Amino acid sequence: MKYNIACIPGDGIGPEIVREAVRVLDTVAEKYGHEFKYTELLLGGASIDAYGVPLTDETVEKAKAADAVLMGSIGGDAKTSPWYRLEPSKRPEAGLLGIRKALGLFANLRPAVLYKELAAACPLKEELTEGGFDIMIMRELTGGLYFGERKTYVENGIRCAVDTLTYNENEIRRIAVKAFEIAKKRRGIVTSVDKANVLDSSRLWRSVVDEVAADYPEVSLSHMLVDNCAMQLVRDPKQFDVILTENMFGDILSDEASMVTGSIGMLASASLNDTSFGLYEPSHGSAPDIAGMNKANPIATILSASMMLRFSLDLGREADSVDNAVKKVLEDGYRTGDIMSEGCTALSTDEMGKKISEKIL
Ligand code: NAD
Repeated sequence: MKYNIACIPGDGIGPEIVREAVRVLDTVAEKYGHEFKYTELLLGGASIDAYGVPLTDETVEKAKAADAVLMGSIGGDAKTSPWYRLEPSKRPEAGLLGIRKALGLFANLRPAVLYKELAAACPLKEELTEGGFDIMIMRELTGGLYFGERKTYVENGIRCAVDTLTYNENEIRRIAVKAFEIAKKRRGIVTSVDKANVLDSSRLWRSVVDEVAADYPEVSLSHMLVDNCAMQLVRDPKQFDVILTENMFGDILSDEASMVTGSIGMLASASLNDTSFGLYEPSHGSAPDIAGMNKANPIATILSASMMLRFSLDLGREADSVDNAVKKVLEDGYRTGDIMSEGCTALSTDEMGKKISEKIL
């Protein structure tokens, strides 16, 4: 099959790590008889340097025309980069928010996987994480508190501020459907997280999720209050498969879940719209401190490319082959500097990409 992939290398380590993800994709294409055509696009600092703005209409249009977007990371060092002397709406990060909005990406997926080979990086007690864990956090990305009406005002001489948390049933239903569809392809367990003991928006969330669950008898659903979930993630992370939650709770819980894996260079992410289209990128930033040194860990980007194969291109077998290649390379003791431990073999960015490509079966 032929696929058109928009590629946004971005800034800092972005070009180095995207290059390795493309190397792995090319190996997949060769082994499985596919053709991946890449269209390179500018975003963030690279776009500011070329066009004076962090996102152009051309980037949006070409991204929309692709089957999926694979991205590195954008941004620079806020203290030294001239990009941060521009007004906030012209800085690199504005480009990222702009493209997410323009592409209608409402579902953010962040896997938090603890590989048993990297267990030493996990800050939790060994008995809690034995054998590793594999959680998919699904966060609603375009509604809730971050997009509600807000104002700051003075009343009777006292400063006040208000933020509004609004959801409608359609916004909840579309992400719940995504969560159940994804759970079907995993271990079949959805934990929906809310604050239904206090918030009306959470009570609506809970009832719409229950309605959607009725269409997925093969998936088991439970509801959990957000405060309990924050605790359970550090008490017993292995209980979770898919965590489904609204925007702000997801923002906090996905950071918590990813940090318990302990390895920022390993964390992939995807943002999806209501078709199979998605934007795939590592969870980490552009690491300007190690940019251009061939030291960055490309695995988060390679695993993001694997999510792209699975969720946008419907190539599950090929995605499995990438995930297994990553596991094999870790099992064989190969590491980039950020995940290095005693007795392992140190690899550069491109050596790691090549090693993973060699293990694609
Ligand atoms: P960062 O994630 O770039 O770096 C934090 C630390 O982790 C650094 O020490 C870095 O060297 C290390 N690190 C990150 N990724 C790594 C990798 N793949 N391999 C090895 N080490 C890695 O966070 P930051 O320093 O706070 O941000 C730098 C820039 O990235 C900023 O401009 C920020 O706005 C931007 N940023 C972009 C995104 C994105 O593109 N989605 C996300 C977060 C931050």
